[in-house]
Amino acid sequence: MIRKTLAGATALVVAGIFSVSTAMAESSHVANKGGAHGAAKGGPVHWGYKGAGGPANWGKLSAATAICGSGHRQSPINVSGPTEMALAPIRVSYKPTQLNLVNNGHTIQANYAPGSHMRVGKRTYRLLQFHFHAPSEHQVDGRNYDAEVHFVHKSDDGKLAVLGVLFKVGAENAFLKAIWSQMPSSKGTRSDPAVMLDPNAFLPANRDYVRYFGSLTTPPCSEGVNWFLLKTPVELSRAQLERFSGIVGPNNRPVQKVHERFVLRSK
Ligand SMILES: [Zn+2]
Repeated sequence: MIRKTLAGATALVVAGIFSVSTAMAESSHVANKGGAHGAAKGGPVHWGYKGAGGPANWGKLSAATAICGSGHRQSPINVSGPTEMALAPIRVSYKPTQLNLVNNGHTIQANYAPGSHMRVGKRTYRLLQFHFHAPSEHQVDGRNYDAEVHFVHKSDDGKLAVLGVLFKVGAENAFLKAIWSQMPSSKGTRSDPAVMLDPNAFLPANRDYVRYFGSLTTPPCSEGVNWFLLKTPVELSRAQLERFSGIVGPNNRPVQKVHERFVLRSK
């Protein structure tokens, strides 16, 4: 078992190094230039969440996205029976940031000013952006939550880390309220220096998490991504969920096979 762990870790380090340039493309929207859903007439098929460009076909769209179909370390996954282990705590140090939203046709994304980070063990990851999926991308014991937010980070040596938080329908979410009131209803951007976003009050107090090595959940599906999924969900109202879904539509990639991976749960 130990040998397998070490071999896997080595492979991930290598994957991490080579996936950075493509992974960063998602963060900076370079990979999101294409149409949101389905094929552009007469042009290449762009990725989306249904039709010819849907998740089942992402691996066939181009050589750059082949790993979406062939990779064995893809995300999201169904978290079922994770191995409990003493893991380093997640230490989040997020500063409030000015509202800077993008509707890229696939999600609503808030870009983050430099200076915020997450620490796990000895590694520090800088926060780049966060964005939303509904329904959730990860499953827990075979069930989706209503939505999921991904805080995307990168370390100075190029490793990507995503902190995922699940949502279930319940009380209105104050953090989302400011974002939702300003999110562009079609592709475009929206900035407002007068509105500050502060995720600190939004994150659950309990930072217990599930950890595994996976990928970006959108093309090019680059592997070598460190996933941290908080076990404690937060709430959003039914109206908030419907408003997001009405603008972006379902934008969750189906769960991928776990294959030979360790899925760990902090205790
Ligand atoms: Zn995401």
